[in-house]
Amino acid sequence: MLSWNEAREYIELEEMCELLRKIIRIPSIGSRESEVAYEIIDLLEEEGIKEYKLLESEEGRGNLIIDVKGRSEGFNLLFIGHSDVVPPGEGWSINPFSGEERDGYIYGRGAIDDKSQIVVYTYLAVLLNRLGRDFRGRIRILIAADEELQNPNHGVRYLIKEHPYIFKGIHGAIGELGGLVSIGGRKAQAIIIGEKGSVSHKVMLKGKGRHSSLVGEDDLIKIGSEFLLRLPRKIYFVSETFKNALKDAFGWKRHLIFNRLLSKHLMNNDPILNMYIQALSHITIASTIVRAGEAHNVIPDRMEIIINARIFPEQNESWVRRLIEKTLSRITKNNYDILLQTYVPATLSTTDNLLYKKIVETIREMNYTPLPLIQVGSSDSAWVRSLGIPVYHFFTTTKELEIDRIHGADERIWKKDLLKALEGYYRLITNIQ
Ligand SMILES: [Zn+2]
Repeated sequence: MLSWNEAREYIELEEMCELLRKIIRIPSIGSRESEVAYEIIDLLEEEGIKEYKLLESEEGRGNLIIDVKGRSEGFNLLFIGHSDVVPPGEGWSINPFSGEERDGYIYGRGAIDDKSQIVVYTYLAVLLNRLGRDFRGRIRILIAADEELQNPNHGVRYLIKEHPYIFKGIHGAIGELGGLVSIGGRKAQAIIIGEKGSVSHKVMLKGKGRHSSLVGEDDLIKIGSEFLLRLPRKIYFVSETFKNALKDAFGWKRHLIFNRLLSKHLMNNDPILNMYIQALSHITIASTIVRAGEAHNVIPDRMEIIINARIFPEQNESWVRRLIEKTLSRITKNNYDILLQTYVPATLSTTDNLLYKKIVETIREMNYTPLPLIQVGSSDSAWVRSLGIPVYHFFTTTKELEIDRIHGADERIWKKDLLKALEGYYRLITNIQ
């Protein structure tokens, strides 16, 4: 394979920007993903890349699969991204669907999450093709629909059910985003190795309703409030895999890892990153819905509380249930039911694996520190990991990841970072030969 410095002569930054602007202009908010795919297909056709498929779960909800085969057998790498976006919301200083450029940035909903990444994936296919496919193995790109809404009938879950061959013979995968992050003043390229899971239980408190003028000790809203006050909201926990990954990356003593991250971090006083670091190092428990009472003069006989917990692979839904039971047992005796509402397990890919090691090597070669992280929300990678495929997210950038703009106002990407991310993926393929 050509070195990156030679290969980059075959790609113009402006052509990548042009595709990004075109697809930002399509407001694919949980719909119209096929229109995004058609823009990409036009380019593939111009480039003579014929191995693609558009798989629609319904009209307009297309998943695009692009295959580029190398000259011989080798590592089969899947790149996962998505073409849908979340609604723009308030507070934009420009039209979120204009793809406008300002001071070296391209702005728009999806500029980071995840349209820039699918542009980089597409140009990785284009570049490898322009260079005569002089590599070993196979690159498969999956640009999925409906990542943000996670409807089981669209997107990746639809593909797993209806077109499972897409995931056959894959040795490892790259998932969405990553980027440059700064923790405790230290800059590093993120490698997301897993995602926290999400468990929701409904707690149903039962009592005897009565007129509010009568005196009694069984006021359900009081009992429910006590439960909410006593329920722990965060419990310090760090996954073993994550500890080991941090140790490998930084050589720190295990027990010092989080002390260091937390103390340095708290000092630098960045509230958003702080919340993220807290979530990364704790099981978190939140109350999200409370329902009780219908009339101003009746003590209700029922109260419903939804508890949503975010957990690591070491916990599951019964772990959360036991925590709720333990808290409840100190307040009330048996007058309750706990019903499981939703459960998405946490997923974590081992770092003792060729693909992970090659990502680390690639990031070091680009003169950055690799920083393994766990994502606190979930993405399509969780479904792909559940098939036994290791998935890591990385997306090399020179500008820091602006977490608050993702799903927020004025989302943007530093134009030159399209090439920086392409460099990361190209170097990875070179290293995995
Ligand atoms: Zn996304």
